[in-house]
Amino acid sequence: MKGEKMKKIINSMKLELAAESINESFARTTVAAFAAQLDPTLDEVNDLKTAVSEAVTNCVVHASTKSVLIECQLWKIADKERGISITITDFGVGIQNIEKALEPFYTTKPHEERSGMGFTVMQSFMDSLKVQNGKKCGTVVEMIKVFA
Ligand code: ATP
Ligand code: MG
Repeated sequence: MKGEKMKKIINSMKLELAAESINESFARTTVAAFAAQLDPTLDEVNDLKTAVSEAVTNCVVHASTKSVLIECQLWKIADKERGISITITDFGVGIQNIEKALEPFYTTKPHEERSGMGFTVMQSFMDSLKVQNGKKCGTVVEMIKVFA
C-alpha cells in the first residue's frame, strides 16, 4: 500500500475464539461492528463479513487448531484513505503449498463438498490478501480493505 509510513492507526482490537463453527458468525459480526466506526458502506461491510467468514471457516475446517486469533486495526492516511487491516491466525497444521492453496478450485477436502474457493473469495472481496505460515506452526492470513 502506498504511504505506509503516513498510516495512522486509529483503533485496534484482538479477539481469541475457540475454533468452533458456532464462532464463525460471532467473528464476522464482531469485525463488522468494529469496522462500523469508520462508517463503511453496506457493501463494504458485507465484503468484510464474507472474507472473515471464509478465513475463520478455514481455521475450523482445515487447521486442527484449538483457537483462532483475530486482530483488527482501523487506519487512516491523512484525509486520503481509510480502511481496516485484519489478521487471522491459527495454531494448527499450517499449509504445505500456499501457492497451490491460493489457486481457485484447489481444495484438500473435495469429499466434504468444499469447492476450494475460500481464498479466491477473500482475494476478490478485499483489497489485499497475504497468506503465510506461522513462525512455529499454523497459518497467518492478512487482509486489507480500503473504504471508499
Ligand atoms: P471452500 O473454502 O470453498 O469451502 P476450501 O476451504 O478447501 O474450500 P480454500 O478456502 O480456498 O478452499 O482453501 C484452500 C486449501 O488451503 C484448503 O483446502 C486447505 O487445504 C488449505 N487451508 C486453507 N486454510 C487453512 C488453514 N487455516 N490451515 C490449514 N490449511 C488451510
Ligand atoms: Mg475455505
